[in-house]
Amino acid sequence: MEKIVSLCKRRGFVYPGSELYGGLNGTWDLGPLGSDLARNIKYEWWQSMVASREDVVGLNSSILHHTRVWEASGHIASFTDSLIECKKCHTRFREDQTPEKCNQCEGMEFTSPRQFNTMFKTHIGPVEESSSLLYLRPETAQGIFINYQNVLNSTRVNIPFGIAQVGKGFRNEITTGNFLFRVREFEMMELEFFIEPGTDKKWHEYWKENRLKWFINLGIRPENVKVVDLPKEDIAHYSKGTAELWYNWPFMGFGELEGIANRGDYDLTQHSKLSGRDLTYTDKSGNKYLPIVIEPSVGVGRAMLAFLVDAYTEAGDRIILKLHPKIAPFKVAVFPLLANKPDLVDKARAVYQHLKLELKIPTVWDDRGNIGKRYYAQDEIGTPWCVTVDFQTLSDATVTVRERDNAVQNRLPVSELDTYFTQKLK
Ligand code: ATP
Repeated sequence: MEKIVSLCKRRGFVYPGSELYGGLNGTWDLGPLGSDLARNIKYEWWQSMVASREDVVGLNSSILHHTRVWEASGHIASFTDSLIECKKCHTRFREDQTPEKCNQCEGMEFTSPRQFNTMFKTHIGPVEESSSLLYLRPETAQGIFINYQNVLNSTRVNIPFGIAQVGKGFRNEITTGNFLFRVREFEMMELEFFIEPGTDKKWHEYWKENRLKWFINLGIRPENVKVVDLPKEDIAHYSKGTAELWYNWPFMGFGELEGIANRGDYDLTQHSKLSGRDLTYTDKSGNKYLPIVIEPSVGVGRAMLAFLVDAYTEAGDRIILKLHPKIAPFKVAVFPLLANKPDLVDKARAVYQHLKLELKIPTVWDDRGNIGKRYYAQDEIGTPWCVTVDFQTLSDATVTVRERDNAVQNRLPVSELDTYFTQKLK
């Protein structure tokens, strides 16, 4: 992990939040490469969950909701963690994560647990009184439930259908750590899939398999990810059954990457009650029911950490980040063999601009140092292909294309690069 954290900082994937002022615990900033990686992950998720399907639509709700939303969802009453404190040095722990001995001072005595609501509070308007209290959303799901009827009334969806949303969530976690694994502000990718009662088992199985395949298709090694059905005592109060995708993390072994919950009709029942609005669904044959909801929910940062960890490879003194080309920040790097030969530079610039501007393939230019160093630098940030323009290019219009993972070099006509890369990136 230390090596990955350090690579991420050195190459501009992830920086510690507010570092200039000594840091702010539980926050991380995405650098130029990290923001590209995160955007690619979100794009792939959206393609898979919304754009390629006929039964899912998108939504982008506000982060701030009416306080009644959190009353209805149960978050005000029970979005809590149990907090205990070391009596000697006052270090705080989540009760379910407390070591036998305090890891700061080795103290063995702890206070009794008290409940701590992990929603961040803020105020609307200039007066900080209880009537102006608001919460930053700890999940994007409620924005979907409160718009469920709007979506039904304004689109042509019929059950079974889903509403997907990607956006920030905030949780005032008692303990943060393990880099992007547990933070206080994070982006979430959530789908609420509305189905007819009685069909939940089938759809739960469907989404478990679908989400597992998504990770594997984007390069996660199959042996490092698995579906786990949680025992009853470990699941949220509203849930009728929760499965999780577990990843084999270097700091803890197998643990949660994504949750895939059966939320039952809990949320819609609650919102019906508290809003006084009838949220029952009427199907084509006139049957009325409150739909059941299956929810795959994953953090962008946690997914990004899994992709980074899985891709990180050392070969001798080289680091290769074997990211799937679809999520790699840059797909191609273009080099002139020598930076001081204008003929080579001009030709290489033309290839670079064609790929970047006309084909719109994320492409990076590099003419620093020798060619070996440039390969090195691109391997480290996960660029799958390097194109080198050399003296032979000037006579026969061919270039070398080097593959990141096996360092194999092929000679290809410049005119074939379009088809070569568009095929590879399909
Ligand atoms: P835990 O019990 O570990 O606190 P949770 O079960 O409450 O987590 P969910 O509500 O299921 O977590 O969250 C859905 C997904 O959001 C998680 O699978 C994870 O990918 C992501 N996530 C949740 N909390 C955090 C966090 N603090 N930092 C980063 N990602 C998070």
